[in-house]
Amino acid sequence: MKPNYDIAVIGAGPAGMAAAATAAGQGATVLLIDEQDTPGGQIYRSLSRQNLKDKAILGPEYYAGHKLIAELETSRVEYCPGTTVWQVSEEREIGISGNGAARLLTADQIIIATGAQERPFPVLGWTLPGVMGAGAAQVLLKTGGVTLPDAVFVGTGPLLYLVAHQYLRAGIPIKAILDTTPQGNTFRALAHLPKALADLPSLIKGRRWISQLRASGIAFIKHVGDVRCVGEDTVEAIEYWQSGQWNRIETQAVFLHQGVVPNVNLAMAAGCEHIWNNAQLCWHAKTDKWSQSSIPGISVTGDGAGINGAKSAEISGRIAALGALHRCDLIDTAARDRLAAPARRALAREVRIRPFLDALFRPSQNFRVPANDQTIVCRCEEVTAGAIREAVDLGCMGPNQLKSFTRCGMGPCQGRMCSLTATEIIAQSRNETVANIGAMRLRPPVKPLLLGELADLAIPPDEPNPKVG
Ligand SMILES: Cc1cc2nc3c(=O)[nH]c(=O)nc-3n(C[C@H](O)[C@H](O)[C@H](O)COP(=O)(O)OP(=O)(O)OC[C@H]3O[C@@H](n4cnc5c(N)ncnc54)[C@H](O)[C@@H]3O)c2cc1C
Repeated sequence: MKPNYDIAVIGAGPAGMAAAATAAGQGATVLLIDEQDTPGGQIYRSLSRQNLKDKAILGPEYYAGHKLIAELETSRVEYCPGTTVWQVSEEREIGISGNGAARLLTADQIIIATGAQERPFPVLGWTLPGVMGAGAAQVLLKTGGVTLPDAVFVGTGPLLYLVAHQYLRAGIPIKAILDTTPQGNTFRALAHLPKALADLPSLIKGRRWISQLRASGIAFIKHVGDVRCVGEDTVEAIEYWQSGQWNRIETQAVFLHQGVVPNVNLAMAAGCEHIWNNAQLCWHAKTDKWSQSSIPGISVTGDGAGINGAKSAEISGRIAALGALHRCDLIDTAARDRLAAPARRALAREVRIRPFLDALFRPSQNFRVPANDQTIVCRCEEVTAGAIREAVDLGCMGPNQLKSFTRCGMGPCQGRMCSLTATEIIAQSRNETVANIGAMRLRPPVKPLLLGELADLAIPPDEPNPKVG
């Protein structure tokens, strides 16, 4: 690995792979870093070593990823798997860690394509063993063919129905689907339907998943207003509020999901300005039409810059690469604009359905801002919703002050699983907008790092260090 590159891309999902291959195709020296062992990101996870026999389980959209992975593998991109990026600085220095060794390297341009994560789903008992995200259940299926029979799927959003449908296709019994989509969403989404109809195949695909799940005999319970996971050492049942009463289902596996949000930690810790997107109820980096962030030389693209799905991620990755190539003076303005034009038209087509999906699957406030004070919000530090409300009563104004009041967001996940919820609780308690309350400030390292690795970094480069090859 060299100390410096024209372009470094962080994240080998659709956006990162497309950005890296596009940049290398125009003669740039490109490093592509990803913490996973194989390229593919979330959607094409473990594709290059997938050995599930029945391809119908994961579906054609998954195997379509072979084309992009082949483009990457035949490019001159230097691909660096199994490597975590824990820092990106304004001076475009990148801190990486892999095989127990940390390194610092630089690039003229950095493209952050770290994708999305599941939105936190803070309910009573969500920290019990046996309770996980539906996306996590899909990771088990994609990486090892591992499934949990008789699970209860809970929540809303395309990924919930996709994973349930993948279970159905695999013949894995599902105990029930508890749908928490608020009743008024369909009506509110209608305003966006005319534009979404331009992407009829995606609409039909989503409808088909839901109607086949409902026709399969699985208990599909709609308008669920509240849930709690119960059990001593592990989850034993889920209780749900529907039609004015609590109901109970015995189960040893609960898959929660209420949409995905940008994984903002690296871009935020780099100091990129972030804005609150009220349609998607999330923060994302403020970027220009070339994905350049508020920090010169650092771009943010793909679902990390706002949720638009895999196809849009791939296209926006290419556009981000063209912007970076131009800032590296590797292509001129005319070439950049000419090469980007078809991608921009394709992107405009891909994002037409998004406002409809955002409205249709907008998670309800009570599953984002837990009413029950006993609900754990910060899983790392076991900070409850009640403790956060108490801090506000004591004068806490925002999520950053909350850290000193409660240590909320100061654990190993660095706020990934709690910052959104904590900020929304503070906004509600102070009767303020989330945008005015502001985001939780993040600092490197954004991913855990061994002290020894950090110490080794202090060894001057000309002095041999036994650990780093
Ligand atoms: C759990 C989950 C499952 C999903 N499954 C599907 C699906 O089956 N079908 C679908 O259409 N959409 C799915 N999505 C939506 C998904 O966000 C998009 O479809 C698409 O994958 C986004 O592409 P991307 O390139 O922006 O990011 P991603 O595909 O998310 O890729 C980002 C990559 O960056 C890596 N990364 C992140 N932080 C670091 C770091 N600090 N250091 C090194 N590497 C890092 C991640 O490991 C990942 O490989 C899923 C989302 C989630 C959260």
